[in-house]
Amino acid sequence: MTAAESSKRPPLISVVMPAYNEEDTLGITFQRLEQTFADTSCEWELILVNDGSEDRTLQQATSYRPTTFRMVVVDLSRHFGKEAALSAGLRAASGDAVIPLDADLQDPPELLLEMIARWEKGAEVVVAKRSDRISDSWGKRVSARLFYRTFNMISDIHIPENVGDFRLMDRAVVDTINDLPENRRFMKGLFAWAGFRTEEMEYVRPARAAGQTKFNAFRLMGLAVEGVTSFSTAPLRLVTYVGGSVAIAAILYGTFIVMRTLVFGIDLPGFASVVSLVAFLSGIQLLGLGVVGEYVGRTYIESKSRPPYVIRKVYRSDAE
Ligand code: UDP
Ligand code: MG
Repeated sequence: MTAAESSKRPPLISVVMPAYNEEDTLGITFQRLEQTFADTSCEWELILVNDGSEDRTLQQATSYRPTTFRMVVVDLSRHFGKEAALSAGLRAASGDAVIPLDADLQDPPELLLEMIARWEKGAEVVVAKRSDRISDSWGKRVSARLFYRTFNMISDIHIPENVGDFRLMDRAVVDTINDLPENRRFMKGLFAWAGFRTEEMEYVRPARAAGQTKFNAFRLMGLAVEGVTSFSTAPLRLVTYVGGSVAIAAILYGTFIVMRTLVFGIDLPGFASVVSLVAFLSGIQLLGLGVVGEYVGRTYIESKSRPPYVIRKVYRSDAE
């Protein structure tokens, strides 16, 4: 194919959708996507990754007969989590541009049109930024804000606030991410790490179309720790500083006591202060040990180089 011919070919867009127990939403999501792309000249494919769903998600996806697009269903061997499912989807996508999209219609498919338009004008990444978080609970809003602030303060990369996985990425960006060998994959961080010319567009995130969120406070906390330890060693440095400061304070206090004893003679020490000091110090030591342990654990798991996910089977159906 000559360059002129290839530039005439309509671009292929891959929509990557991780799905875990989404039987209630898939039908409407497919329809909305199909309607959206009906207005464009793009060719598109849907990569649905079944993240070990226990309901009929897989049957629904494989029995759907697309008429206007190509459907690839990647069935993982068990539940691996969204980050792994998304990685599997990105590797299976063959489009010139790739768009991860939640299965629950919280990422409105209509926005794809503007993303694609901006990409055609030269953006390599177009991220969708939530203009507010009113569809979230108070607790989630506060903890999210705290996470982004802390993360951006202590790590070398910058994750823009209120931006999720919903974005368009050029093939070059996707190739970069696919080539990263690490198997604990905090995608938001990897996306930001990859860089490239990025544009933002704002949107209002609607509530879930049906079903329940798959992330409770505990899992979000895990994801936050995962994110920080993946992209920063600042907590280790912090432990060193805290340890150093406490040691200096202890030396000063010790000197003070010796001097006081020399000058004023021996007085009766208070046990309460000794006990609370010991408790405080052992608390700090355990905290430090925990932080170090978190990093050692990560290194241990990475060193085994197990793949982040296992694929049971890939189903393909072309537009009829
Ligand atoms: N998801 C997944 N594996 C998981 C959790 C979620 O594949 O372990 C998918 C889920 O099916 C959905 C997307 O990730 O398509 C976002 O999940 P959810 O809507 O529960 O997250 P929230 O919108 O509450 O952040
Ligand atoms: Mg959701």
